[in-house]
Amino acid sequence: MDATIIDGKAFAATVRAKVAEHVTALKSAHGITPGLAVVLVGEDPASQVYVRSKGKMTVEVGMNSIEHKLDVDTSEADLLALIADLNADPSIHGILVQLPLPKHLNEDLVINSIDPAKDVDGFHISNVGLLGTGQKSMVPCTPLGCLMMLRDHHGSLSGLNAVVVGRSNIVGKPMAQLLLGDSCTVTIAHSRTKDIQEVTRGADIVVAAVGRPEMVTGEWIKPGATVIDVGINRIDAPEKGEGKTRLVGDCHFESCSAVAGAITPVPGGVGPMTIACLLANTVTACCRANGLPEPEGLTA
Ligand code: NAP
Repeated sequence: MDATIIDGKAFAATVRAKVAEHVTALKSAHGITPGLAVVLVGEDPASQVYVRSKGKMTVEVGMNSIEHKLDVDTSEADLLALIADLNADPSIHGILVQLPLPKHLNEDLVINSIDPAKDVDGFHISNVGLLGTGQKSMVPCTPLGCLMMLRDHHGSLSGLNAVVVGRSNIVGKPMAQLLLGDSCTVTIAHSRTKDIQEVTRGADIVVAAVGRPEMVTGEWIKPGATVIDVGINRIDAPEKGEGKTRLVGDCHFESCSAVAGAITPVPGGVGPMTIACLLANTVTACCRANGLPEPEGLTA
């Protein structure tokens, strides 16, 4: 069987186009331009790349992009003061603090200082609690992107068996909550799970968020199942030349796609959806802040 490729790059472009449409409508009907503030502390090269592409795409959909680049040795008090200013600024609808933070800063404290209504990453403890109790919240971008692709592919997810491999706070746990919210029967597997391949082989949907290159192989997958590969791992690629690398997911694409009914590739699957969902969350936050109906299909 050759799996259908779920094209996250194309899907993300449609999400961004929807966001752009809503931004245009907000501007023309209400004179409001959604604003996203991104705070980067330090000079981590991967974070710098992420922040640059977030800023570029924010502007492309017509929103205001505000970047705050702070020294690596910025004090916690100064960072909290900046977040307090952004919380109070009515032109800012979304605030994202790029993680990881330098070691001397308490990540939980910083994230929980963001106004939950502006917490477009969905990591604030209030949003975690709202999602867990099935209430309206800001939903973490990566699992939201996975959910959108699954809904698009399957229509209804109701009654399907879903296994999420990985239990991180930013991907695995919120992913499981979202699937439960769509009435899947959900199992979370992790590093201590016994007979993990038996567990995943019972699933109609496998979401892999592990951080181990190509760990999930075709033997883990039930024929016809849908595989969502969240992993982004850089590995050596001597076949491309000395010192070269390439990106792979947590799933072994060749063997999984021979068995699965549908699969997301890496790159070009979940990755592009994450930034698209950040923009979607910002427009949703902007509508909520202004008491306007929120766009359909852009949140959980
Ligand atoms: P994480 O915090 O390191 O969590 C990894 C999870 O995988 C843990 O729950 C761990 O279990 C589990 N795990 C590790 N080894 C395992 C094994 N051998 N068998 C079963 N489970 C195992 O990672 P994360 O932040 O969730 O990220 C996961 C992957 O997604 C990474 O590759 C990351 O780069 C990628 N990612 C991609 C995006 C995107 O936009 N596409 C966004 C975020 C993350 P324990 O809890 O038992 O240790």
